[in-house]
Amino acid sequence: SHPHKGGHVKITIVGTGYVGLVTGTCFAETGNDVICVDIDANKVAMLSRGEIPIYEPGLGEMVERNTQLGRLRFTTDLATACNDADLLYLAVGTPSADDGTADLSNLWAVVEQAAPHIGPKAIVVIKSTVPVGTNAGAASRFKELTGREVDVASNPEFLKEGAAIDDCMKPDRVVVGCRRAEVGEKLRELYAPFLRTEKPFLVMSPESAEMTKYVANAMLATKISFINEMANLCELMAADIDDVRRGIGHDARIGFSFLFPGVGYGGSCFPKDVRALRSMATALGVDPRMLTAVEEVNDNQKCIVTQKLKKHFKDDLAGKTIAVWGLAFKPRTDDIREAPALTLIDQMLAAGARLQVHDPEAAANVKAIYGDKLSYGENPYDALPGADALAVMTEWKEYVHVDLARVAHLMNTPVVFDGRNVYSRARMHEAGFTYYGIGRSPVL
Ligand code: NAD
Repeated sequence: SHPHKGGHVKITIVGTGYVGLVTGTCFAETGNDVICVDIDANKVAMLSRGEIPIYEPGLGEMVERNTQLGRLRFTTDLATACNDADLLYLAVGTPSADDGTADLSNLWAVVEQAAPHIGPKAIVVIKSTVPVGTNAGAASRFKELTGREVDVASNPEFLKEGAAIDDCMKPDRVVVGCRRAEVGEKLRELYAPFLRTEKPFLVMSPESAEMTKYVANAMLATKISFINEMANLCELMAADIDDVRRGIGHDARIGFSFLFPGVGYGGSCFPKDVRALRSMATALGVDPRMLTAVEEVNDNQKCIVTQKLKKHFKDDLAGKTIAVWGLAFKPRTDDIREAPALTLIDQMLAAGARLQVHDPEAAANVKAIYGDKLSYGENPYDALPGADALAVMTEWKEYVHVDLARVAHLMNTPVVFDGRNVYSRARMHEAGFTYYGIGRSPVL
């Protein structure tokens, strides 16, 4: 079949967060009629006024353009939005429950509310990351609620915050799980404009599609914990992980991507998805030894800067002033969910230190949690006066080429804990800093 024959479809996206908003906007960009639904009236009101509730590069202009062209609308009214949708995308949050399983209460709530309103030909598409078996569970619930078979497809999302538009418009691959070939064909048409460079559109069972998302995130988390464990070993051996990294990456079987040591992974996906996959294994009577190790290494790595600070200050952090650059769990996002910087902040506050923090985008989200317990710099230098140490927790580009002389001058003592290895050790020593990286021996 010709990839472009399908044309324009009516799409309703439920859940207008990082994934739902980006996906909906990209579908509108290719000419479809998109309605984004959210339970959060404040978010919907902002979006309807053209304000973007999150920071994601390039998203604002795209939302504005498609809203003006009438292809993108926002509402809290799920029932009406379902009425003539060809595709009903579920992109609500699926956070960790206290026991580590995925909390699907948002998803099930939407299934219950949407079922009476969907048309006979509507296809439900699960975009949220959900445990294996959720598709089958949703299909049988829709059947109970509507009295007929409803097509439910699984279409996991692989976008990265900070590069979400590009990832959505030019995905490495699209994965669709479905039980009927026609459903796969409809979604292939929808995605055709994004796959013009012959990137694969992979059709499989819903179970395989659901599992693909967890395996992808577990593999990426494994790479991070692996290199972090190797980095910590390097430090004790007077080896430098950065040289070792270069030394291994040229082997095509290993490669260079996603093998940067740091302060551990955070964000809204890796931690919760590794936990959820562990829970799935445990429920099946399997001890997921790799995943357990990945998580334990990461929990430790999130404390690595605290450990180094305590060692440097001989366990006496009371009354010390610590500057923190970078609060978001990674650059180019304002997302602070499970960010390593928050672990550091909690541990420093518990030790009686004072904190002066900076982040180009995430400071407001941090302020909403910590309020006046921290002081917030308008720019990186503002966080430095009187600081006994500086910890770099997120590798924002603007931290890389700072004026090191000015940094040293503003601080009480020029000590830097570089949690992302953004600085050259030699340059830091030349500028008079005591420098600690990750996996680098402290002296040159
Ligand atoms: P998010 O928290 O940013 O957004 C979820 C949205 O769903 C919120 O705006 C919330 O108000 C809304 N919502 C919750 N219950 C609702 C209901 N009953 N009706 C309508 N709206 C409701 O979450 P996110 O980061 O966009 O993630 C969504 C899903 O996509 C999760 O399953 C996540 O694992 C997955 N995912 C996220 C990313 C990412 O980088 N953020 C990447 C791939 C996959």
